[in-house]
Amino acid sequence: MIQIKDKTFQIFIPQSELTARIGVAAERINRDYEGKNPLFVAILNGSFMFAADLLKKVSVPCQVTFVKVASYQAMHSTGQVKDLIGLSEDLGGRDVIVLEDIVDTGITMQQIITSLKAKNPLSVKTAVLLFKPEALQQEVPLDYVCFEIANRFVVGYGLDYDGYGRNLPNLYVLKES
Ligand code: IMP
Repeated sequence: MIQIKDKTFQIFIPQSELTARIGVAAERINRDYEGKNPLFVAILNGSFMFAADLLKKVSVPCQVTFVKVASYQAMHSTGQVKDLIGLSEDLGGRDVIVLEDIVDTGITMQQIITSLKAKNPLSVKTAVLLFKPEALQQEVPLDYVCFEIANRFVVGYGLDYDGYGRNLPNLYVLKES
């Protein structure tokens, strides 16, 4: 059990399970992108651990860039998604793979895909660590999903509660009172 600010969290998915599933996703990417040269677009802040562990297992030649989308306040999605910040690469003709920590309502991912497609890539696919199917409001194409989870609030392994908990190596879930 851990305490972050006013909330108590319990272990949900240990690091070993996270990295095992991420390895499976990386193998699929290696197969699907054989002979290609994908550009990974990792969404900060939440995807930094996922991106690091996944990319270490990607063996096809690739490039990696990091962008930011500010859309989430504390424990509830605000629904106010902003533009991608920091994308300077030319996406024309590129096979893009978006790396995101979690798809909750799907609104952020939808916005990201729309912004990326406007830059004329050859393809856009998505790889996500976590997917909450029960929370989905916006249909989005999810190509590589490591874990489908219940609609509960999670922290750790890059994900935060009010800015805290991103550094935790395991994934934790809010304890039900
Ligand atoms: P969506 O637009 O509702 O799909 O929200 C996506 C973003 O909300 C993610 O990139 C996370 O930053 C954040 N988010 C959604 N669920 C959680 C959670 O359980 N813990 C921490 N952040 C979350």
